[in-house]
Amino acid sequence: MVSKVLIANRGEIALRVLRACKELGIATVAVHSTADSDAMHVRLADESVCIGPPPSRDSYLNIHQIVAACEITGADAVHPGYGFLSENAKFADILDAHGITFIGPTADHIRIMGDKITAKKTAQELGIPVVPGSDGEVLPENALEVARKIGFPVLIKATAGGGGRGMKLAHSEADLSEAVSSARSEALAAFGNDAVYMEKYLGKPRHIEIQVLGDGEGNAVHLGERDCSLQRRHQKVWEEANSPALNVEQRMKIGEVCADAMRKLKYRGAGTIEFLYENGEFYFIEMNTRLQVEHTITEAITGIDLVHEQIHIASGKGLSVTQEDVVFSGHAIECRINAEDPRTFVPSPGTITYYHAPGGLGVRVDSGAYAGYKIPPYYDSMIGKLIVHGRTRDECMMRLRRVLDEFVVDGIKTTIPLFQDLVDNADIAKGDYDIHWLENYLASTS
Ligand code: ADP
Repeated sequence: MVSKVLIANRGEIALRVLRACKELGIATVAVHSTADSDAMHVRLADESVCIGPPPSRDSYLNIHQIVAACEITGADAVHPGYGFLSENAKFADILDAHGITFIGPTADHIRIMGDKITAKKTAQELGIPVVPGSDGEVLPENALEVARKIGFPVLIKATAGGGGRGMKLAHSEADLSEAVSSARSEALAAFGNDAVYMEKYLGKPRHIEIQVLGDGEGNAVHLGERDCSLQRRHQKVWEEANSPALNVEQRMKIGEVCADAMRKLKYRGAGTIEFLYENGEFYFIEMNTRLQVEHTITEAITGIDLVHEQIHIASGKGLSVTQEDVVFSGHAIECRINAEDPRTFVPSPGTITYYHAPGGLGVRVDSGAYAGYKIPPYYDSMIGKLIVHGRTRDECMMRLRRVLDEFVVDGIKTTIPLFQDLVDNADIAKGDYDIHWLENYLASTS
């Protein structure tokens, strides 16, 4: 078993990982920038090391400093959380070279899935259905030929893409060359790699993703799906499990396709296979080789602690469950609480003057926020996650409505009022929405 985990992250996820380590009796090391000296996970960790100034590239992305912090504290494992270095294959390689366990998949698997063209090709070879599109990279000179074959509208996407950047839609032949060249230049600027590929643009899909766990030896399970269709600018806002759009047979069928693919790949650790879902069909878009923000709703409906599982797997103890052991119970919804204006989404950093987190049956708040906490302006604006569980979706919605009213965060603006509107919306009540619903709703109510 690993004995001391360095948590290479900040905010709510650093606290989330710390809690799992404490439960398992594993010592913890927090690393932080000078802007995060007062963070809750730093206060609660057994040891802490300041690794640099506020900008992420000088602290949370600084591999040398993080490895040095491992050496100084004697940490034998690193949990990368999500974002920052969590999908950095070089980081996984460097830790390996230092004899430090990376709590995650192999560097090779991170590399394969980090390049979307290779990821899609690999997924297809493993029997996962993919979005119809180009066979690999698309160049300006062959774009028209490829687009005609696929059929308009088409989406141009960056192979190194993330966060919706480097993605351009072409409705017709007239838009195509502009879409290809702007996607390429955006991708080059954002990722230092201008390779793009082409996909059929799906008009009204849902975003449905499957949680998987593998032991690296060819055993793997799936933990069902999450519906993350409610997005703004390709960023998830509200997630739920199970998806209101799937029945048990559909869930188990796509879940088994994913678990089987992970067995063949000998995947190690937690991962998420993301699909667009339209007219009863699943289309792979990407795989994330890390813990995701919304892993909590899967935990709520399965009772399985995903960070415990990650640590067990990294310690060579394998999976604690077989597929038959995984039982889905009830419904869960997660709301991402951001320090932002609930309508304009302009960030609202500052000091939280008063803070009261809701409670009661089926309520979980993952947040490092507290009264007096000063939200630094340097990082993303998510200050916490509210997760509600109920025996049915209706019960979950009832509970969510009550809990949102109870949540008090004073001194800054938050997205709580947006969720109060959503929970009373008729389409949301029916679970009747696709990936465009939220943006249309925001445009029509602004
Ligand atoms: P990123 O890694 O940049 O987030 P993804 O491939 O995961 O890129 O896609 C992000 C979002 O973009 C999806 O959740 C979906 O909303 C939209 N999208 C991606 N591919 C397509 C497609 N082929 N058709 C329609 N929408 C798409």
